[in-house]
Amino acid sequence: MPADDSRRALPVHAGTSYMTVATDNDINADDVTSMIAAQIAADGPLSLATYIERALATPDVGYYQSGDPFGREGDFITAPEISGLFGEMCGLFLAHMFELGQPLDTGAEKPQPAIIECGPGRGTLMADMQHVWGQLMPELAACHIHLIETSPYLRTIQQQTLTESVIHWHDDLSALPAAPLYGIANEFFDALPVAHAICREGIWRHRLVIADPDLGFGEGTPLTATELDRWHLSNKAASPDGTVAELCILGEDIMHILAAHIATYGGAILIIDYGKSDNIGDTVQAVSAHKPVDLFYQPGQVDISHWVDFNALADCALAAGARLIGPVEQGTFLAKIGLKARAEQAATHAAPDMRRALLAAYDRLVSPAQMGSAFKVALLVPQGEGTPPGFMNNDIKTEAVSPAERGDG
Ligand code: SAH
Repeated sequence: MPADDSRRALPVHAGTSYMTVATDNDINADDVTSMIAAQIAADGPLSLATYIERALATPDVGYYQSGDPFGREGDFITAPEISGLFGEMCGLFLAHMFELGQPLDTGAEKPQPAIIECGPGRGTLMADMQHVWGQLMPELAACHIHLIETSPYLRTIQQQTLTESVIHWHDDLSALPAAPLYGIANEFFDALPVAHAICREGIWRHRLVIADPDLGFGEGTPLTATELDRWHLSNKAASPDGTVAELCILGEDIMHILAAHIATYGGAILIIDYGKSDNIGDTVQAVSAHKPVDLFYQPGQVDISHWVDFNALADCALAAGARLIGPVEQGTFLAKIGLKARAEQAATHAAPDMRRALLAAYDRLVSPAQMGSAFKVALLVPQGEGTPPGFMNNDIKTEAVSPAERGDG
């Protein structure tokens, strides 16, 4: 798990009761809190997914709608914001996948691909990938870019970052181009709303958000047989009292659409997120100014995320006729596709300060104590055989850079 402020720390809450701590002078938090409380008063308890959706995506006041959460000044920092090396390596990897996917030159017209990024944040990752493609893979650099982004504020920043490209913004995936898609979703699935069920005396019940009068957790009706199926809980042995299960319906729906598209038109999409391979455990976490906070603290003002269930995403890919390769740990993936050599090469020509910064960034991306282990990388491709570089099962270690190598020692 990340030991520092790279996107999120450990889940902070272990109990079941939470209090809101909105301050009087915080209009935004008050707005969102009272809006949620009013909805609960009118309609009854909300599913956790609805609470998260309101907190993150309410127009104008939701967390992602109104501001820039990234970087040292913000609430959390993501891999592309740590170093351009991350985007460079992802760009190189996708260029390789694009080359592999090209039919031999038969003279027949090749389908024109398109680039996709889900949840592009500031546009930094896409700009870094574009930079690599501009030098090595002009066919990709010339493609139209499709950005899946709901935040008007972040769209403006993306526009300022990606001045050289033709960009199409989408709120959702309903209008993707009929073309092979190459692209990436970094820390996108973890930002989607997730619902909870909780096991009580062997029975799975919906875990809901109540206002009593402060916002907190309550428990609802048992899951029906159909719901148990949907939650991947039908065949689960009895779980200890209080065990929590998670379901990210929006994430699964999005994966279905992407996978069906890739199965029909071809392409390759990297999915990178902190994640795990089941849906058991409460992984929801709220973060403000690089520190964990209570889940019900100032909704709309703080980041809320969860650990992605890669098994559920792989099942969706398969059901839609595609294949999700991996996940492997981010540190392993980046090491296998040559990040260390690239970082060292860049550091050789850099001034001492820059060299230290480059190698510290490398360390942060790959070291298991930082982002290297908690973050996982998976690849969505059409059905088929074979494993691309980065996902092969051979032994490359993701050792950290020593202070001496970094020039600190
Ligand atoms: N990939 C970026 C940012 C990750 S933060 C990086 O690595 O720095 C999550 C991103 O997903 C933000 O751009 C946010 O506005 C966007 N987002 C969150 N929920 C979304 C949704 N339901 N549909 C589309 N975009 C969403």
